[in-house]
Amino acid sequence: MKKPSQKKQPAIQYTIVPRDLAGHLFDVTVTVAAPDPEGQEFALPAWIPGSYMIREFARNIVRIRAESGGAEVALAKLDKHSWRAAPVAGPLTLHYEVYAWDLSVRAAHLDQTHGFFNGTSVFLRVVGQEAMAHQVDIQRPADPAARTWRVATAMPELGAKRYGFGTYAAASYDELIDHPVEMGDFELASFKAHGIPHDIVITGRVPNLDMARLQADLKAICETQIAFFEPRSRRAPMDRYVFMTMAVGDGYGGLEHRASTALICARADLPGTAAPKSGEPNEGYLRFLGLCSHEYFHTWNVKRIKPSVFAPYDLQVENYTPLLWLFEGFTSYYDDLMLVRSGIIGEATYFKLLAKTIGGVLRGSGRTKQSVADSSFDAWSKYYRQDENSPNAIISYYAKGSLIALAFDLTIRAKTNGAKSLDDVMLALWERYGRDFYPGVGRGVTEAEVEALFDEVSGLKLKNLFERWVRGTEDLPLAKLYAPLGVKLVDERKSGKPSLDAGLARDPLGAKLTQVHEGGAAHLAGLSAHDVVIAIDGLRVSGMPSNVDALLGRYRVGDTVTVHAFRRDELMAFELVLQGDKTAGITLAPAVAGKKSAAIKRPSAV
Ligand SMILES: [Zn+2]
Repeated sequence: MKKPSQKKQPAIQYTIVPRDLAGHLFDVTVTVAAPDPEGQEFALPAWIPGSYMIREFARNIVRIRAESGGAEVALAKLDKHSWRAAPVAGPLTLHYEVYAWDLSVRAAHLDQTHGFFNGTSVFLRVVGQEAMAHQVDIQRPADPAARTWRVATAMPELGAKRYGFGTYAAASYDELIDHPVEMGDFELASFKAHGIPHDIVITGRVPNLDMARLQADLKAICETQIAFFEPRSRRAPMDRYVFMTMAVGDGYGGLEHRASTALICARADLPGTAAPKSGEPNEGYLRFLGLCSHEYFHTWNVKRIKPSVFAPYDLQVENYTPLLWLFEGFTSYYDDLMLVRSGIIGEATYFKLLAKTIGGVLRGSGRTKQSVADSSFDAWSKYYRQDENSPNAIISYYAKGSLIALAFDLTIRAKTNGAKSLDDVMLALWERYGRDFYPGVGRGVTEAEVEALFDEVSGLKLKNLFERWVRGTEDLPLAKLYAPLGVKLVDERKSGKPSLDAGLARDPLGAKLTQVHEGGAAHLAGLSAHDVVIAIDGLRVSGMPSNVDALLGRYRVGDTVTVHAFRRDELMAFELVLQGDKTAGITLAPAVAGKKSAAIKRPSAV
């Protein structure tokens, strides 16, 4: 992107000052050069793109006032997100204070250790002037704790030096809020992926961080993905990219942006210099690399190829789409696949990850009631607002969406004798709807266009499969689809170790049931979510984690045990017939031991 000229008077100018680190307060101003002569409206988004829930960020605006030419201007509140200033002749400035104490990738957080914000939490939208050039002056806090702080963001610098405080610029409001900003004494490392600079920024104390390994692994993942979408030119869709990571004791999450991602992870998931240098990543580090791979894949799939209702977003209300199974599910399919294709993990580890996803999807009866299209549409009130009954009522468009990607991939490979695969569909989506999305802002893709494109690229008629897998609730025939590719799927869930078939959590009295699976042992016995199990056959349930598995280990599937539990403060007894543990029992492996399957690589014919 071309930088706007510095001399030109900015249409919309923000300043943001982390004023009170201990009180978690940002001071923000916005000056509008040519406000609406009828009275300028301002609004803060109700949600942040990528996280489909109404969050009402404006509730964190503590104080707000308006002025013009040194005189106060009346400001009327229109609704929970919006204000209108009285008409003024000259430039109009709003001053407001934002409380920032949400340690997630979705909002804003400020204390003596660092500052982080998404534009959706701090920058009021100047209604009607969204397409104008926006500038932000990010100022260093006066607090001595911030003397050595630096700034990390993919927002283009205007006056600021790279990693410095100062002026940054965005071509529009849409771009402004798509570049989160991290400030603090972070660890920083850089690498190039197919010529494009990438930064790794790590905030939070991480003793003996192996940044060299992280750099090498992320470079491999990024280069694999860039070459996936642009096999000929190997051209990345952005000028630079920033992985900003907050390392904490326990946490996991990421949010995608057009040229960066904000991540939160457990510090134990980051590689350490004391760990073995070679070999596959351990479980925690693999989880982190999978997250990075996922968010990076979104650079193409959802930040540029996107549902038509997101082009543009309406930031004040829910934006309903039946397509999140494509944007989240397919991204979840490719995030692990990219780890194999980049050589980070081998086929055996990949199949273990996949088996876990298959087991997770098969476990809940919600999969027989809600399609992934409906789950996508209702994400705002169901997937993002889960409760104890969710496994019995909803399906994850991430997990089942990733298996739908697999099922389509295997179907297309089989029916075209390996000439085509899902990769070709993704490339066609990219070429037609994604590659030129910015800067003009494309129009996105509709459900009908997605389906037509699947048929066109594969040369097959796939409508029936969309009806059954995407709009229906049929289980995916993965064992059958994998067989021709030399992969065996084995389901031994019924013969697993004895289990209550319920989710368990720590409780001072015993073990609390967090979820009771429909048709499972606990449900059939009459137990309910939130019951606290205190004894099994007269023996106390205790410990953290609880000794339930050890107690049940002395029984067989089909045995009956007496379970004592508190419901609220009433003690109740239940006769429970033990079932096999359904959390494990799916395995996937090449049908011929030691032989690599043909199920992962890009078909050689293409
Ligand atoms: Zn995602």
